[in-house]
Amino acid sequence: MSLRVFWVIILLQCAAVQADIKGSAGAAREWRLANEQLIIDRFAGLLRIPNVAADTVNIRRNAKHIQEMLGEAGMQTQLLELDGANPAVYGERLVPGAQTTVLIYVHYDGQPVNPADWASNPWVPVMRTGMVEQAGEVVPMLAPFDPQWRIFARSAGDDKAPVVALQSALMALDEAGIAPTVNIKVFMEGEEEAGSPNLRAMLEKHRDVLAADLWLFCDGPAHQSRRWQLVYGVRGSYGFDLTVYGPNRPLHSGHYGNWAPNPIALLSDLIGTMRDTNGNVYVDGFYDQFRPLSEAELAAIARTPRMDEAMMRELGIARPETEDRLEIAISRPAMNLRGIYGGDVGASARNAIQPSASASIGLRLVPDLTPEHLRTVIEQHVRDQGFFVTGQDPTPEQRQQHGRIAKLSWSKSGGYPAYRASFDEPLAVRISDILMDLSGGTLIQTPTMGGSLPIYIVGEVLQVPVLILPVANHDNNQHGANENLRLQNLWDAIEIYAAVLTGL
Ligand SMILES: [Zn+2]
Repeated sequence: MSLRVFWVIILLQCAAVQADIKGSAGAAREWRLANEQLIIDRFAGLLRIPNVAADTVNIRRNAKHIQEMLGEAGMQTQLLELDGANPAVYGERLVPGAQTTVLIYVHYDGQPVNPADWASNPWVPVMRTGMVEQAGEVVPMLAPFDPQWRIFARSAGDDKAPVVALQSALMALDEAGIAPTVNIKVFMEGEEEAGSPNLRAMLEKHRDVLAADLWLFCDGPAHQSRRWQLVYGVRGSYGFDLTVYGPNRPLHSGHYGNWAPNPIALLSDLIGTMRDTNGNVYVDGFYDQFRPLSEAELAAIARTPRMDEAMMRELGIARPETEDRLEIAISRPAMNLRGIYGGDVGASARNAIQPSASASIGLRLVPDLTPEHLRTVIEQHVRDQGFFVTGQDPTPEQRQQHGRIAKLSWSKSGGYPAYRASFDEPLAVRISDILMDLSGGTLIQTPTMGGSLPIYIVGEVLQVPVLILPVANHDNNQHGANENLRLQNLWDAIEIYAAVLTGL
């Protein structure tokens, strides 16, 4: 074969793949345009079932309802059970001849609600022309729908939208006679907002059923610019409370000041040795084991619209902690001061030297950094500052023995590491190609979210790469009052699923 013929064949193959993706997305759009009322009615039906993880009766109603919805889209479903856990909804649709299996992760439970804060009942979906904060008006939930309208209910954005979007995408493809090119599995968790206490055990128990070549986490908000976003990782999380001590009872600051050790001064000094006001951490070893961003990851960030200026205006910040843009700043390990307590201020201030002062300190982890390592180096740092380090309240004997005592109470959960998939992961390359193509080159690739999700558990237990494909609008008020989903995000999600499931 001559080189020219070779390239013509390659180009033709590329063109065929592109046409397929666009054909699927186009079929999804056509179907959606003809069925918007049906889609919204189905979505509203799901949103009407309360879904707080502790409400186990309604949680099961949700699970059953989702089983039916997936069944309508040709999926075989079952509930995955584990003693003491809310059921996970599992669904699968195996495609003859498919070489690849993609598993879509969604959670169907939602955060608890405080109905007094809501403009309408969180479990009775309503349609509004815009955000409540921007005086969006209630309109009948009847087609035709303006794509800027939003549907309001708990979990509209976090995380029930992918359920109806996936159902719609599969039904649209079926009606158009387009077969998915991958085996499709779904795993819909029922206690994510309760901290996923049983996720590891659930994955271990159902390891075989949940095997896949890629997990797609469909959760979280899309980019503030409203462009589609593919996220490759999350940071890990850990934290501790730090307490230092003065005299064993409050003392008069006039009679004993400058003589009795002042715990607030001790604590401020100690914190000052650990972290400066630019976010730099001075604990030996804190930055030892972290994976820096690769060239491809840095290039992707450089292509991302820079939101710093807009966020600074919105948040009343004239000078951020660092000159680096937000995406770079959140790719580093971080020490965040969550709270500090010593004595009272204002009218409650007393001229006293307090017995103790405490700070609560949060840590964000990036890949290759473990909670255990951070605990070791931080405790060593505190020791190096001349403190006796303990995990308990000091005994009277210890108070006599040690001039400086620090109690470090680490978070009981033990923290968890970060997760970041490689940009070179073959399926990640294929998905980003599909979305880049479909979005006309505007897809945003984000190496890591700043926040934390226990995604590493999936990677660790199932040895599978994980990507995050959020579909909800960033201003969906997730976890808060007046949670909502902008309809254009739902419409886009249907096309995205149709393209991905026929393009891989
Ligand atoms: Zn969520």
